[in-house]
Amino acid sequence: MTRFTFSLVRRSSSLLALALLAGTQGQTATPTAVPTLPPPSALITAQPIGDSIFPALGQAGLDVLNYDLDLFVDRPGRSELRGTVVLTVTATQPLPVLSLDFLGPQVLDVRWEGLPAPYRHDQTAGKLTIQPPQPLRPGTLARVTVRFAGKAGVRPDPDLPIDVGWQAVPAQGDRVGANFTLSEPDGTRTFLPVNDHPSDPATFTTRVTVPAGYTAAASGVERAEVAAPDGGRTFTFEQAQPIPTYTLAIHVNQFERVDAAAVPVGVAGSDVLRRDYFPVGTQADTRAAYTSTGEILKVLAEWFGPYPFSAYGSAIVTPRVPALETATLSTMPVTSSNTRVLVHETAHQWFGDQLTLADWSEVWLNEGFATYAELLWAQAQGEAGEDIVRGWYARAGRSQTRPLVATSEAQLFDTTAYIRGALALHAVRVTVDDAAFKGYLRGWVAGFHNRPVTTADLLAYTRTRLGATAGAALRLWAESPELPPFRKGKHRHIHRAQGGCACQATPHARCSSRCSSSRPSRRASSGRPSGRLLSPCTMGTKRNSGRAIRSRRAVKATTKSARSSKWALSSARSGKGSPDSRSISAGCGSKPSSSSLSRRDVSRKIDALGRV
Ligand SMILES: [Zn+2]
Repeated sequence: MTRFTFSLVRRSSSLLALALLAGTQGQTATPTAVPTLPPPSALITAQPIGDSIFPALGQAGLDVLNYDLDLFVDRPGRSELRGTVVLTVTATQPLPVLSLDFLGPQVLDVRWEGLPAPYRHDQTAGKLTIQPPQPLRPGTLARVTVRFAGKAGVRPDPDLPIDVGWQAVPAQGDRVGANFTLSEPDGTRTFLPVNDHPSDPATFTTRVTVPAGYTAAASGVERAEVAAPDGGRTFTFEQAQPIPTYTLAIHVNQFERVDAAAVPVGVAGSDVLRRDYFPVGTQADTRAAYTSTGEILKVLAEWFGPYPFSAYGSAIVTPRVPALETATLSTMPVTSSNTRVLVHETAHQWFGDQLTLADWSEVWLNEGFATYAELLWAQAQGEAGEDIVRGWYARAGRSQTRPLVATSEAQLFDTTAYIRGALALHAVRVTVDDAAFKGYLRGWVAGFHNRPVTTADLLAYTRTRLGATAGAALRLWAESPELPPFRKGKHRHIHRAQGGCACQATPHARCSSRCSSSRPSRRASSGRPSGRLLSPCTMGTKRNSGRAIRSRRAVKATTKSARSSKWALSSARSGKGSPDSRSISAGCGSKPSSSSLSRRDVSRKIDALGRV
């Protein structure tokens, strides 16, 4: 303790302003003599978690068990907020200091087990370093309290025209001001001191105090709603199951809460509470998509196993931003209020919120599964799903591709993470029957939700659970620098039962075309074995299908190359798939031209808004 000096950290006008801000609803933010840490050079270095995409995030060895948060949103629509959070922490290795991620409001004071603790808040680096009385040791618990007030921090997302984290939606016309969280991948640190990495999920107790006329919504089950000064209200939510920090939802708006019948898809058949939050004045056509939520939960629980949390629903936001799988309460823009996006975000409750990532480079494990859920839902509605898979393959074929594990922030939400990820799962599916595939999905969730997951985990699990053929299929799709050719599955197309066609259920353009013909196809009658490999072009257009079929020799060479150069990457930056169907044929068998790349770059931010 002698290494630390004690002084007033914040002085004069800024402190006075904070005190005034914090005092508007009864909570004092009076600055006191606050111990501060010396400059960083004098600190014992805190080791980050070591994420390959965001190497500065988190602290190695720190395990936050619970965040108990009191948040005061005095002026909805603005970026100012104030609050107190109590972190219950332990460690997996001795920690001389705690290093929390925090870009956000200014720190007023820090306490360790109720006593003032030295700290240093570097808002540029986004780190709040706290000195405990003695090192935090494995097996011990500590409660660390941080009080803060001021403007939320800023964390620009290179893909989006917004900063991720605490969103402020100013009042405009008839619309009142509002706030909400949109934090993937690392926006929670803009308003809350956290160990901001998905490998350290935690439970949350969230109390939000809002002015008169406003409603707060947050991840978890609402436990209380009590009066606050000046006609305001305090809403309390308990998120009893651990969730990654980026999935924490907090919404403040003039909401209409709509409750629906509970859905018995929870653990051991328990009821899952259903509630949605619509801003007052939300149009009926926007609300319509959410009437399917209960059915979506049932379909996905059948494939993935019990829904992992106690409640589920959506909070609708008015800005045109990406939808986000915030835990128990998906954040859904008005512009994305459709069933496909809702299915996707609901699937993330299993993949991303319950099953968490060990590293951000593994984000396809979230997006690939959530995208695949869109196919499972479509098939549950009676669709064959062929058009969906064919569309995926065509889109992947006209985009630059890479192995599934990302190597840069720009790759996190690209076409590969979503579409190639989903196709990789389909490549596994077609090696087995659907009963085995369902058991595989359920086993992945049930067996791996207690620790952060990696692609290596899934590869090992796939081989163990489904055998060498499925394992090899996934490995090819995971590791090949090029888009792998597609292997047709074992499932017979329904037309075969009618005696008309031997096409298989795995869809591709020519097969579908022939199956729709009244005459049996020549290929169908040739007795060729299943498992023929098709190139992306085969999936694109009939015009290109013939010349694009790869020879078996070429496919073997591709496979060998992929296996011998694990994680080898194309140096080209992956672009987002253009929705322009005119580019389908141009993309077959050739790299996109520089001009098309340029167009994609220009529209990149716009495309990013469609990410889900
Ligand atoms: Zn997603």
